[in-house]
Amino acid sequence: MHFTQSWSCSSPGELTEAYCDLFVKRGGRFVTGEANTLQHTVSGWQILTSEGELKAEQVVVALGPWSPELLSRFGYRIPMVYKRGYHGHFNAPKTLQRPFLDVENGVLAAPMIKGLRVTTGAALVPRNAPIDTRQLKRGAVALSEIIDLGEQVKEPQWMGTRPCMPDMLPLVGEAPHHKGLWFHFGHGHQGFTLGPTTAELLMQVMEGESSELLDALSPVGRLS
Ligand SMILES: Cc1cc2nc3c(=O)[nH]c(=O)nc-3n(C[C@H](O)[C@H](O)[C@H](O)COP(=O)(O)OP(=O)(O)OC[C@H]3O[C@@H](n4cnc5c(N)ncnc54)[C@H](O)[C@@H]3O)c2cc1C
Repeated sequence: MHFTQSWSCSSPGELTEAYCDLFVKRGGRFVTGEANTLQHTVSGWQILTSEGELKAEQVVVALGPWSPELLSRFGYRIPMVYKRGYHGHFNAPKTLQRPFLDVENGVLAAPMIKGLRVTTGAALVPRNAPIDTRQLKRGAVALSEIIDLGEQVKEPQWMGTRPCMPDMLPLVGEAPHHKGLWFHFGHGHQGFTLGPTTAELLMQVMEGESSELLDALSPVGRLS
């Protein structure tokens, strides 16, 4: 089955770097810091960055799977479910025209800039569990029965964690008990595509507009 309107991206890292460059070009400032230094002060928020202390009236927590750890310091218990995924690249002699999912074997193949990517399904393990490449190896064996994968590209083993909420909806909106603290995480399997959309809506709400869609994603009432 070929869904003709679904898009794919051959280098998600390059696209997110391009978003960052655009942000800076439009007047934004990009600095790196340790999120766990975040503190609530009388006038707002402050955090330690490589360029010193940064103060702001508002702060958005957008740390994906790391968000619950930071927010536990502020008294929030976020019931996040972690779904780990792995991928590996192969120098296939003939690449694919589009990604495809081998449903029976739970493995996806996608033509990427780094080679033909073999992507696993979800491993329900704690965030810091050791690397286990069984799904990836099994998936590569299954795919090699239908495609010539060629040699595996030598690279450090990648893995990522999908930050899922139990109802599979992201938490987006103002924190229930802290003024100027905003949540933007929990996008699960769709954060790469859905994140920029909810970010734009969140920006509107932070500027005082209302959004019925964001009301449904708000942490108020969704956290016990
Ligand atoms: C295997 C896999 C496949 C996926 N496939 C898709 C897909 O096909 N389509 C799709 O839309 N989405 C997909 N996703 C989901 C998507 O990647 C996530 O939902 C998305 O990355 C979440 O974006 P984010 O910016 O909220 O968090 P992240 O991308 O996780 O970014 C959080 C950032 O916070 C940083 N950080 C953590 N702790 C600290 C700290 N203490 N101080 C400072 N910085 C810190 C991290 O280094 C990281 O850069 C997939 C995810 C995985 C794991």
